[in-house]
Amino acid sequence: MTETGARRDVVIVGAGPAGMTAAVYSGRALRSTLLFERGIPGGQLNETDRIENWPGFAESVSAPDLMAALRTQVERLGAEIIQDDVLRIEPSDSVHRVITAQRVVEARTVILAPGSRPRELTAEGAARLKGRGVSYCATCDGFFYQGKSVVEVGAGDSGLMEALFLTRYADSVSVIVRHPKDDPRAIRASGLLRERALAHPKIRFLWNREIVAVVGERGVAAVRVRRLEDGGIEEVPADGVFVNVGHLPQTEFLRGSVPLDPNGYIVTDARLRTKIPGILAAGDARIDAHRYAQAIIAAGEGATAALEAEQYLSELPGRRSSNSREGG
Ligand SMILES: Cc1cc2nc3c(=O)[nH]c(=O)nc-3n(C[C@H](O)[C@H](O)[C@H](O)COP(=O)(O)OP(=O)(O)OC[C@H]3O[C@@H](n4cnc5c(N)ncnc54)[C@H](O)[C@@H]3O)c2cc1C
Repeated sequence: MTETGARRDVVIVGAGPAGMTAAVYSGRALRSTLLFERGIPGGQLNETDRIENWPGFAESVSAPDLMAALRTQVERLGAEIIQDDVLRIEPSDSVHRVITAQRVVEARTVILAPGSRPRELTAEGAARLKGRGVSYCATCDGFFYQGKSVVEVGAGDSGLMEALFLTRYADSVSVIVRHPKDDPRAIRASGLLRERALAHPKIRFLWNREIVAVVGERGVAAVRVRRLEDGGIEEVPADGVFVNVGHLPQTEFLRGSVPLDPNGYIVTDARLRTKIPGILAAGDARIDAHRYAQAIIAAGEGATAALEAEQYLSELPGRRSSNSREGG
C-alpha cells in the first residue's frame, strides 16, 4: 500500500457525470484534485449507446464519446484520475483519509459521487437483452418506443410514473403486478398516481402475475408471465420491457463513516454537505438526486459540490492550499 506524498485539496470518489463535473470545477479553481474511479471513467453512461437529453447537441450523441470528452476536459484542467477502488473513508476534524485498494490519500475535502445501479431484473433473458429492448430508464429510452407495446415491471411510485411517461410514446403499456387487484399491497404508489394510472386508456394492469422470462433473439419480442393463482404461463407480446424495481446506491464502503439513509443513499443538506465538515456528495448516490437519476442532474450536483468544497476550503483557518501544481 502506497502512502501518497502530497495532501490533496479535493479527492473525488467516482468518475461518472457527477464526479467528473466536480473535477472540472475544482481543477479550474486550481485546487489539487484527485479522482478515484474503480472502472472506466464515465459511470453508467458507458452502458448506454446514445444520449438525447444532454443539452447542447442538436442530434443525439454517443454517451461513451461524451464521457471520453469529459475525461479529456478533466485532465486538461489539471485533475488527476487514478483507477483504484475506494474501500473506506476515515473522516477527521482536520484532514480526511481516503483508503483505496492500493493507497492512502489525505484529503482536505472529499466529494462522494459513487452513483447507483438499477436493481436488475433476474428473469431469464433479461440480462442478455439489456440495452436491446430491456431498459432501466424510460426517460432515456421511451422515445424509441413510439407506436409500440411495452411492459413495465414495478408498480411503486417510480414504476407508475414511468408507465404514465411511456404513454406519451407507446400505444400500450402493460404493468405487471405481483398481487391481485384488491390486495392492498398490489400498487405501492401514492393515491393520485395510482388513480391516474388506473384510469389511463393506454395502461392495462396484469394483476397477480410475475415475469419469468424476456423472450427474443436480437430484441424483445414478448415476456413470459406466470399467473400466481394457478401457476399457468402466458406470453405477452412486447417490443420493450422497462424495469423499475429499485436502485442500489454504491455506498457500502461508506457504512459506519458517512451518514446514509435506510436505503443506503448519502444524506446531505440542500447544499450537498454531509454532516461531516468537508465531505460532500453529488449524483445518483445522494438522497434526493436518485429520484430522477439523470446525467445532467448528477453533473449539476457535481458542480455544486465542487463550489461548496471551494467555499469550505477558502474559509479554513490559514487557508493554505494543498495545490500540488503550486508545489504544496
Ligand atoms: C443504461 C442507462 C442509460 C441511461 N441513459 C441516460 C440518458 O439517456 N440520459 C440521462 O440523463 N441519464 C441516463 N442514465 C442515467 C445516468 O447515467 C445517471 O443518472 C448518471 O450516470 C449518474 O451519474 P453519477 O456520476 O451520479 O453516477 P455514475 O454514473 O453511476 O458514476 C459513478 C462512478 O463511481 C464509480 N465508483 C463507485 N464506487 C466507487 C468506489 N468505491 N471507488 C471508486 N469508484 C467508484 C463507479 O464505477 C462509477 O463509474 C442512464 C443510465 C443507464 C444505466
